[in-house]
Amino acid sequence: MHDVVEKVLVSEEDIVKRSMELGKQISDDYRKTGKAPLLVALLKGSVPFLAELIKHIDLDIQFDFMDVSSYEGTESIGDIKIVKDLDCSVKGVPILLVEDIVDTGRTLKEVTRLLKNKGASDVKVVSLLDKPDRRVVDITADYVGFEIPNEFVVGFGLDYDQHYRNLPYIGVLKPEVYK
Ligand code: 5GP
Repeated sequence: MHDVVEKVLVSEEDIVKRSMELGKQISDDYRKTGKAPLLVALLKGSVPFLAELIKHIDLDIQFDFMDVSSYEGTESIGDIKIVKDLDCSVKGVPILLVEDIVDTGRTLKEVTRLLKNKGASDVKVVSLLDKPDRRVVDITADYVGFEIPNEFVVGFGLDYDQHYRNLPYIGVLKPEVYK
């Protein structure tokens, strides 16, 4: 399968190392607040990153999942559809949203707004990847694994047409894969 990959942008070793650093930083920051966060991971892309990150968070945390999508056929500057909502109440709870990649920033902005409307006491964001050049709304993740250039990437949870999520690194596909 790996012969579909043109180049590796972030190796598995670097992802693990950076997740350790982020886990330590997150643990230190939330320890100071006296309250551990509920990690909310957005399906499906953030699952491998969540699994790696939580191993390095030294706090009594819990996690839950949400699945959202943009309304089909619209430009989707605003509304998102909740495909799967959280199982638990977030009233008064500090949330750490876990994302695979921040691209235009629309998803994060909407989900953050939604969680605050549900009564979360605080919403922070950790994202494995960030493509700052693509941003169209004003939002920044509080914790970022790697800034990457404006290229379509797959692996470590990220898909092309639901494929390649299980590649253990972040890579760019060969152009012929899209034909
Ligand atoms: P945003 O709302 O920030 O534009 O979109 C974020 C979502 O777009 C990500 O969660 C991801 O599903 C998708 N996305 C953005 N850039 C890429 C990319 O380079 N590769 C893949 N596979 N998905 C991407």
